[in-house]
Amino acid sequence: MEDGRADRPSGKPREKCGVVGVSLAERDAALPTYYALYALQHRGQESAGIVTHDGFQQHQHVEMGLVGDAFDQDDVDALRGSTAIGHVRYPTAGSVDKDCAQPFSVSFKGGALGLSHNGNLVNADEVRDDLAGAGHAFTSDGDTEVIAHDLARNLLESDLVRSVKHTMSRIHGSYALTIMHDDTVLGVRDPQGNRPLIIGELDDGYVLASESSAIDTLDGEIVRDVRPGELVVLHEDGSGFDSYQLVEAENTAHCFFEYVYFARPDSVIDEELVYEVRRDLGRELWAESGTETDVVMPVPDSGRAFASGYAEAASEDGAATEFAEGLMKNRYVGRTFIMPTQEARERAVRLKLNPIKSTVEGKTVTLIDDSIVRGTTSRQLVQLLKDVGAEEVHVRIGAPAIVAPCYMGIDMATREELIAGDQSVDGIAEEIGADSLSYLSTDAVSEAIGKSKDDLCLGCVTGEYPYDIDGEATDRDVERPTIEPPADD
Ligand code: AMP
Repeated sequence: MEDGRADRPSGKPREKCGVVGVSLAERDAALPTYYALYALQHRGQESAGIVTHDGFQQHQHVEMGLVGDAFDQDDVDALRGSTAIGHVRYPTAGSVDKDCAQPFSVSFKGGALGLSHNGNLVNADEVRDDLAGAGHAFTSDGDTEVIAHDLARNLLESDLVRSVKHTMSRIHGSYALTIMHDDTVLGVRDPQGNRPLIIGELDDGYVLASESSAIDTLDGEIVRDVRPGELVVLHEDGSGFDSYQLVEAENTAHCFFEYVYFARPDSVIDEELVYEVRRDLGRELWAESGTETDVVMPVPDSGRAFASGYAEAASEDGAATEFAEGLMKNRYVGRTFIMPTQEARERAVRLKLNPIKSTVEGKTVTLIDDSIVRGTTSRQLVQLLKDVGAEEVHVRIGAPAIVAPCYMGIDMATREELIAGDQSVDGIAEEIGADSLSYLSTDAVSEAIGKSKDDLCLGCVTGEYPYDIDGEATDRDVERPTIEPPADD
């Protein structure tokens, strides 16, 4: 289907995004939030927004487009107040819809609430129906509004910490949230920690961000990850934060694809530097399916760290495989993945990547990328390399085959569109025209990330999810961590 929304497993937009929260002693928080969003631009290019609070009222600016286009100097200057939350939203073809742009904000009897969400709830409809039955009116079909309404309802009856705990007892799925209640900024991570969220310290305050590279950009110090099931409340005066471990789940379900593709390589997620994980994945790839060819080359930029690890391991084993850059990337072309038509996707790959003939001609080549989804990229690149004279092209992928959709917030494709959805590795190799093709095992992924498979979400490569999703299998005994709602005051 060509409509990006209809394209998704649930028919709804996926919320694969970047979130920020900032609380400072005195200075306005909008500018550091803007810079942090810039650092998280790769997590979402469809819309960008900031909500601030100046102690009396909220200010907000939410626009479609890239951070640099969504804000000008006046927009940032107008966002007064020393507390802020921000959001960048993932592009979803066809959903050029400002209603879904975030942060979501609402004023209610209990004050002003702002919410930025990265992730995807699997029981949003259930909670929405319940709230709608109690008289809540919704302006979008997004999960974030569901969380905001539920929290607002609880805040009318209870304190902040109890209210968040109560909301966590009702929502199920993946969420990393930055929330602003009046001028208090909070960070929450779902009980299985599916999406990343990290705390940083600045000279004059604290920051919460999806990735540590945002903290680096602000010259801050990393404090630690927000723990799965934890609520972090930043002090309004920027002096520190309080922590409340609201839920303890037996196992985590960190998304392995953050390490493989989504996060920046210079980010540290759950104490692992993404770049090193990718290099280790490349080393594992050599160990599992290395083939000596004249050159090994990355698909830029996503395959680069994998290819460097692979080449290093190959050379340690005495293979004469040389690392080479055989494809040049046009940096001014946006992402090719989410394009409404197959023809547009193919054209975009060609606009984005061009071979360097001299490094390829007459050579046997190993081409390395992080993943194959529909197969558009690898099919075209194998053909391109052959067109400029590669003798053989062997494709190595730094992740297992993607066989099932993501319900936790990554915009993949439908099951039918996945090239590995219904065929063998040999069949895929033939379809993309490769002389050979190998993926990585889930054991190798767990080894490189340094976390047990029981603590990772591998749903898109195993078809078994760590969450309780209608019509899908789960790989956990405990399908939903039980969270006792707090007793009323
Ligand atoms: P495809 O061409 O459909 O096989 O997609 C694979 C290419 O898209 C690889 O080069 C990946 O780096 C990239 N990719 C994988 N997953 C995603 C995603 N969720 N969003 C955007 N790009 C992706």
